[in-house]
Amino acid sequence: MPGASSGRPSACCGCRRLGDVERDALGGADVRAVLFDVNGTLVHILTEDGADDVFRAAGHYLTYQGIDVRRDELRDPYFAMMRAQRMLSPHRHPEFDAVGIWRIIVERHATAYTRSLPAAKREQIPLFLAELTRGVARRRLKPYPNVPEVLERLRRAFPLAVVTDAQSAWARAELHQVGLLDFFDPVVVSGDHGFRKPDPRLFALALDSLGVCPEQALYVGNDMYRDVYGASRLGMTTVMFASDQGVKEYEDAVPDLTITDHRELLGILGLDPLDPLDPPGQSTSW
Ligand SMILES: [Mg+2]
Repeated sequence: MPGASSGRPSACCGCRRLGDVERDALGGADVRAVLFDVNGTLVHILTEDGADDVFRAAGHYLTYQGIDVRRDELRDPYFAMMRAQRMLSPHRHPEFDAVGIWRIIVERHATAYTRSLPAAKREQIPLFLAELTRGVARRRLKPYPNVPEVLERLRRAFPLAVVTDAQSAWARAELHQVGLLDFFDPVVVSGDHGFRKPDPRLFALALDSLGVCPEQALYVGNDMYRDVYGASRLGMTTVMFASDQGVKEYEDAVPDLTITDHRELLGILGLDPLDPLDPPGQSTSW
């Protein structure tokens, strides 16, 4: 289990300090770093993971590897193995492994022709299938309005990080595709670790890397359970982005703040609004 952390960072960074007004608005928190969820928070993404065209494409690709299977012979086992992986996981909040599932499926159907392919090619087939099926399943992938501009402003004042529930095969590539990857360090992806939010270890990995205490971190997410409940349990200040995605209620979890526009983050953190020469919406080209 790479990078598992037992808890709180031992050192805090010496970055920008908030003024009294901003600290009051944040319930007294002295925010030194800003962490984000991705899907439904920064990026508006829609996928149809079980759609016919997804598994038809996978089946057609496999014919070039010597494997001839119908789409239902791929789709049903794929989702059955996803459920099994989660059930058998030792983690309370397990993440599945798409590449691992495709590896099993390819091995199960491999023919003499498949086994005659170069080893380097055979090794890449499961990853290629994970990427291919994600790409075909994708119906929308774009940042929410104003996100690039707001992140550009934020990163001049705070270290920024991502904690996302996603597959390793596509999380960073999708952030790169929408032009956001380089804003963040670290990018913590659940698929790299086998567990997902609200597991506190995933948040702690980012906090440790940033060198800040939970009480010095602001977490922005769109899901009341995975994001707000998860981050607040560690002591992070939470901001709920009220997007069209995610669970909006979980027990008595309540965010410290709720926003409907990412530009609100600038005021919350005591930063100037976007420049008049850079009006919202006009520089977003996606
Ligand atoms: Mg989300």
